[in-house]
Amino acid sequence: MDMNLETIISLAKHRGFIFPSSEIYGGFKSSYDYGPLGVELKNNIKRLWWREMVYKRDDVVGLDAAIMMSSKVWEASGHTSAGFADLLAECKSCHKRWRKDHAGEACPDCGGQLGEAKKFNLLVSTHLGPVEDDSSLAYLRPETAQGIFVNFSSVAQSSRKKLPFGIAQIGKAFRNEITPGPFTFRMREFEQMEMQWFYDPKDDTEWFEYWKKQRMSWYETIGISIDKLKFHPHAKDELAHYAKSAADIEYEYPWGWGELEGIHNRGDWDLSNHAKYSGQDMRIFDEETKESTMPHVIETSGGVDRCSLVALIDAYRKEEVKGEERVFFSFNPKVAPVKIAILPLVKNKEDVVAKARGVAESLRGRWLIQYDEAGTVGRRYRRQDEIGTPFCVTIDFDTLQDNAVTIRMRDTMEQIRKPISELISYFSEQF
Ligand code: ATP
Repeated sequence: MDMNLETIISLAKHRGFIFPSSEIYGGFKSSYDYGPLGVELKNNIKRLWWREMVYKRDDVVGLDAAIMMSSKVWEASGHTSAGFADLLAECKSCHKRWRKDHAGEACPDCGGQLGEAKKFNLLVSTHLGPVEDDSSLAYLRPETAQGIFVNFSSVAQSSRKKLPFGIAQIGKAFRNEITPGPFTFRMREFEQMEMQWFYDPKDDTEWFEYWKKQRMSWYETIGISIDKLKFHPHAKDELAHYAKSAADIEYEYPWGWGELEGIHNRGDWDLSNHAKYSGQDMRIFDEETKESTMPHVIETSGGVDRCSLVALIDAYRKEEVKGEERVFFSFNPKVAPVKIAILPLVKNKEDVVAKARGVAESLRGRWLIQYDEAGTVGRRYRRQDEIGTPFCVTIDFDTLQDNAVTIRMRDTMEQIRKPISELISYFSEQF
């Protein structure tokens, strides 16, 4: 398909999905703002993830931990030491700095020789309180995971969970990335959807394989093309400092395959280190067996921004209809920002307009809808196609007689007639 990243960036901006941050001041590298449709897309993705990971199971509970935590957390987790660092190399000719593992031997910009690589820590730091010294140094969390580990005992006790069980969290994370981009793929401020699965190491269930399968099939259920997804198992030298084994779910972006979500076997790295650094017992006590166990952990760690970008890229369609170009986003209805557009076929007939407004009011509040009476119906369909609205409901003269409306499907442009009284139950099945 004739699609490149520039097309998506431009559509995302002009339709109100994603804007460059601080644009009136010339932009701010690596930050983006989600517009009226982008925030809906992102919220839908987060809600679908939460529904899958928390509401559909009785062995996973939710959490919302703070972004700023004690610096000791990051010492224990290995983030302040050399573990959480990328290798940075500077080009000897143009002096641009690159991540060594991305750039290879030569500068991707000018082809110049890269100097010796140095370790560069990715933590974003700040000072809290009135005095800027070592005692006020704090970090913005680089992953949501540690908020889960430090709360593990409180969650287990308060929710009376036994192994195996999981804790899920969605929230912002910050990394001082050396080379952000492309677009929202790698930013310095981003959002993660993470779940830590705690299990007894004596339990011989293949939890790593189980969660790999679960997560891959979720992307399918939200409408991402399965032929554009694959697993990338990590070789030993690719593993993060905490991981025993890991596999990424990768998507085929316009620039090639790249990570969308990581599934990591973290063993007891985190809980053991927090036990060591805090002096607290991080094991879980079973009242029945009277045994304490240090759980092992499988983590599923996805990016909300990457998933939103994948949803946009994957849904982009361009086709020719009766000699005219039709551009649309073929979002899964559950993911689509605007669910239904209500379009009166004529705008200067009061009774048709009143009927259309009535239909709009009956659906508003349940789903995000748009009411539109401006321009020809063809133009209005095009506008809805361009933002990926799955259903357009038209109200015409016949509606006044038979209390039925026409529903036009975005992808096939097929039209069906439905009584107004059946709309809520019909749409409830779609979203
Ligand atoms: P990469 O190698 O692409 O930098 P990573 O292996 O460091 O990513 P993880 O630490 O496994 O990423 O983070 C889990 C998920 O969080 C990633 O799969 C991605 O979706 C998201 N993520 C991580 N870093 C960023 C970032 N800088 N911007 C946007 N999303 C990110």
